[in-house]
Amino acid sequence: MRAFHDPRSLAHDPDRYFRRGALVAHPEQAQRYEVLRAAIDGAHRLAVPDDLGLAPMKAVHDSGYLAFLQEAWGRRAEIPDTGDEVLSGHFARPHMHRRPVGMIGLIGYHLADTSTPIRAGTWDAVRASAQVAVAAADCALAEGRAYALCRPPGHHAYADSAGGFCFLNNSAIAAERLRTSDALAAEPRVAILDIDVHHGNGTQGIFYSRADVLTVSIHADPATYFPYFAGYADEVGEGPGRGANRNIPLPHGSGDDVFLAAIADALATIDAYRPGALVLALGLDASIDDPIGALAVTTSGFERAARAIARARYPTAIVQEGGYLCEALPRNLAAFLASFDEGSRAR
Ligand code: ZN
Repeated sequence: MRAFHDPRSLAHDPDRYFRRGALVAHPEQAQRYEVLRAAIDGAHRLAVPDDLGLAPMKAVHDSGYLAFLQEAWGRRAEIPDTGDEVLSGHFARPHMHRRPVGMIGLIGYHLADTSTPIRAGTWDAVRASAQVAVAAADCALAEGRAYALCRPPGHHAYADSAGGFCFLNNSAIAAERLRTSDALAAEPRVAILDIDVHHGNGTQGIFYSRADVLTVSIHADPATYFPYFAGYADEVGEGPGRGANRNIPLPHGSGDDVFLAAIADALATIDAYRPGALVLALGLDASIDDPIGALAVTTSGFERAARAIARARYPTAIVQEGGYLCEALPRNLAAFLASFDEGSRAR
C-alpha cells in the first residue's frame, strides 16, 4: 500500500518527562520515525506528501490553539530559564478555564501534562505529521487503504490542548478529511477504530457530541493507567453524539484472544453504523514487548487484527499512534501492514 511520511517528524525530539513521579527518558523519541520508516521501506510505496496548508487542521482544532503552537517557541523569552524546551508546571483545571495572555499561563492552558514540551522544531514536526494523515485519507479513498507514519502521534490531543505526547490529532484530522470528501457526500459518516493501548481521549473529546463520526477505542483499563480521566465503558457520547462513542477497556495483561474478541466486537458496532470510510488509529503499544504498554499482544495477534479489520472492506486510513522503541516495534508494524494488504485482497 502507499505509505506517507515526512522527515520533518525528526524536528521534535523530546528529552525527558515526569512519569509515575520520576523524571525519565521520553519514550516518544524522534528515532521512532526512523525505525518505523525502515520497517516498511521496500515493502510499501513510500511518499512525502505536499503540505495542503492549515485548513485540514482548522477543521478539527481551535484556531487559538493552533496559533499558540505556532508561536510558542518564538515567545520563549517570556519564560525565565527556558532552555531547549518550553514547558510549564501550572495547569488549568476544568473549573479554572479562563484563557490567560502570558506565555506561562497559555502553556498550562493548552498542555495537559509535562509530556508535550515545545521545542524549536515542534511546530514543523506536528504540522508535517498532520499533513501525512491528510494524504493517507485522500489515498484511502482512491486506493482502498493507505498508511500514515504520523510522528508525533495524535490521539490524546483535544481540539484545544496537547497531552500524552500528542499535539495535533492526526486521526481526527484524517476522519474529518474523509467525512467532508466528495466520495462520502451522499452519506458523510466515518468511523474511527483506535487500537492503541491507551484510550484515544482526545479523539473522543473532539467528536463526543457528534453523530457523524463514530469513535471506538480498545485500550487498557484507565482506572490505573494513562489517560486516567477518560476511557470508561459508560462514556457513550452526548447530545446528538449519544451512541456514537464506544469504549472497550481491557484488563491489564490481556493477550491476543481478548484483544481479537474486542476487535470483533468493535467491528460489529462499526458495521451497524455503516460508515463510508474508516480511520484505524494504529498504536502498536499493545505489544507484550512495549516498554510502556499494559497489554500482551504478540506479533501474531497484530497480524490477526489486521486481517480482521481489512476484511471489513472500508476505505481505510491507517494512522500511526503510539508504539515505543523495542525490538518488536518494527516487526509488528511490518507484519500488521503486510497482513492488512493480505486481508484486503482476500475474497
Ligand atoms: Zn499509546
